[in-house]
Amino acid sequence: MPEPSSGEIGVEDARGRMLAGLTPTAETVALSGALGRTLFAPIAALRDQPPFDASAMDGYALLPGDLSRPYRVIGESAAGLPFDGRVQPDEAVRIFTGARVPDGCRVIVQERAERSGEIVTFEAHSPGSMNVRSRGGDFKAGQVLLHAGVRLDAWSLALAAATGRDMLQLAVRPRVAILSTGEEIVKAGGAATGVQIFDSNGPALQALIAGWGGIAMPLEPAKDDEATIAAAVAEVDCDLILTVGGASVGDHDLVKPAMRRLGLELKVETVRLRPGKPTWFGVLADGRRVLGLPGNPASALVCAELFLRPLLLAWQGADPTLPMETARLAAALPPVGPREHWMRARLSSEDGVLTATPFSDQDSSLIAVFAEADALLRRPAGAGKAEAGDGVDCLRLHRLARPNSHSIHR
Ligand code: AMP
Ligand code: MG
Repeated sequence: MPEPSSGEIGVEDARGRMLAGLTPTAETVALSGALGRTLFAPIAALRDQPPFDASAMDGYALLPGDLSRPYRVIGESAAGLPFDGRVQPDEAVRIFTGARVPDGCRVIVQERAERSGEIVTFEAHSPGSMNVRSRGGDFKAGQVLLHAGVRLDAWSLALAAATGRDMLQLAVRPRVAILSTGEEIVKAGGAATGVQIFDSNGPALQALIAGWGGIAMPLEPAKDDEATIAAAVAEVDCDLILTVGGASVGDHDLVKPAMRRLGLELKVETVRLRPGKPTWFGVLADGRRVLGLPGNPASALVCAELFLRPLLLAWQGADPTLPMETARLAAALPPVGPREHWMRARLSSEDGVLTATPFSDQDSSLIAVFAEADALLRRPAGAGKAEAGDGVDCLRLHRLARPNSHSIHR
């Protein structure tokens, strides 16, 4: 099949081509397995919440009226154990938080009540609050609570569970085979000779894929050999093949030729981007997609953020837009060449002002620098010199807490 000569294209264009034709599909999943996954169908309330007028306090329920007279306590209403009778004007019901409030009643908090046997009296000037959570005050039957495309976290799971459902319609998770390539690449835990290095991209990508809702399927690293690379992925049952390394045009960059053996139709040949120019994308004859990342750790992980993340989110019907933020530059930066530049940076916040400090060494081979970054800073292609204090676009990385004192870098 002739290959379209797409040449080097911009980041937006490349992303558009990668996301074209992705169709989310649905499956039914138990609530307990839904964390981090994406809703395929909206969730509406099946009934009002709360489903009855509920007491907001511990106290006494009584009809609105004269508080200066004594009331006779005729029963009790506890959460899940309601009082079923009717309340007359001189009667009160002992009531607890979350219990159904008898028809027409308000609740006087127990701190304002004086109980003696069956008789209860109240402070004359009880404040006006009803202390009642009205039926449907949280949400109403039929109300859409969670929209399709929402990624489920603890809070949205609480909302889904509050509707009483235990099975949800979720987007099927894309299965991503990860193939690290290179004669020099050894899996961590293996024995490396003096000229070999350990695969650091594979485990990082595996974690990123899981965080973006995909199913990571790590393969054994493959040597720089066309037939070996093709054989490594030929029979893998997956939606996307993510290759690492061998993406460029050197004599040992054999991933694209290997994929051609499997009927690769190239959609993105190379991207006007730094780091990550050799990134490519295509579709195999059997419909599986292939995203080829360069091997340098910063290139691979920057491109995972810029391309793999939107790809996986779009595939699940979630919003693939990168959530860019604006920060102030901590220091001046030189003009940018013809490729847009994504720099590793550290964010700090003082008095509500977000400041980005790019690392001085942006070499794309540096793993330790990346491990210290908490944002990627975007400088547009062709931009002039930037001054300290200028606004810059940042993409926050999803980092977990690290002690500040831990810094080993520059
Ligand atoms: P390549 O993209 O194959 O030309 O590799 C570029 C650089 O990234 C080389 O120095 C490789 O050794 C390194 N590299 C390639 N794959 C990986 C990987 N999976 N983990 C860490 N470094 C890698
Ligand atoms: Mg290589």
